[in-house]
Amino acid sequence: MSKFERLSRRDILKLAAFGASGLALTPMLENSPNPQEAIDLKPENIVTHSVWPIDGDPKIIMGDGKNPGVGYTHLMPTVNRDWTPDGGHHIGVDFNWGDFDDDCGTPLKMIMNGVCVFAADGEWRQMGKIAIFCHRFSDETLLYSRFAHLDSWNVEVGKEYKVGDIVGKMGKSGWLKGFCHLHLDLGKRKVFEEHYNGKFADAWWYSHYAPIRYVEKYFVDPAKVIRENLKPNKPPKRYFRQHGVCEF
Ligand SMILES: [Zn+2]
Repeated sequence: MSKFERLSRRDILKLAAFGASGLALTPMLENSPNPQEAIDLKPENIVTHSVWPIDGDPKIIMGDGKNPGVGYTHLMPTVNRDWTPDGGHHIGVDFNWGDFDDDCGTPLKMIMNGVCVFAADGEWRQMGKIAIFCHRFSDETLLYSRFAHLDSWNVEVGKEYKVGDIVGKMGKSGWLKGFCHLHLDLGKRKVFEEHYNGKFADAWWYSHYAPIRYVEKYFVDPAKVIRENLKPNKPPKRYFRQHGVCEF
């Protein structure tokens, strides 16, 4: 159990207000040179349904990974696939519309009800400005959506948001050499407990040369989860256990 799990929501917010080390805040830690941990906070509102993060036909907005400015789908081999024996695989999905930078500044929506557990600027990191949300399902499964390369945020750490609320604007922050797009990935609870230091994940962690066994262990396909929960009904009980997602 991490130290944060023993803190109440009130304690966490109180600590955050005083800028305790290890707790990430926006805008207080904007441009901080030190990677910060996400706070361990479960949302009070469970997931009812999902929406796509931007308007449009998902077949168009998700891209195919072949054209400049388009992007990768989940587990698609990346440009750096030669760097590992089993090839590098993309974590999550890139969302686009239009040509090149047409989509810069597009409002990005919460894909499900959730609480913001992290939002900070990692301009010196590949993912740039990011925001992470914890989503709680009816079977108590927790999943973590991460929005990356943002131009700006509209969220605060510790606050609850509803599906469809605006997270921020699409951008190209970070090491990105290409065009504006949203990188969205969906981490399992394991991401926050096991990655690197045995505690919380490096919130900015990302690799274009991640081994597929790692990606499959720690992440699920956000497009699949969104698509399967578009109707405003609760997911069937044990939905995630059936999909092999629930791993506490
Ligand atoms: Zn991406």
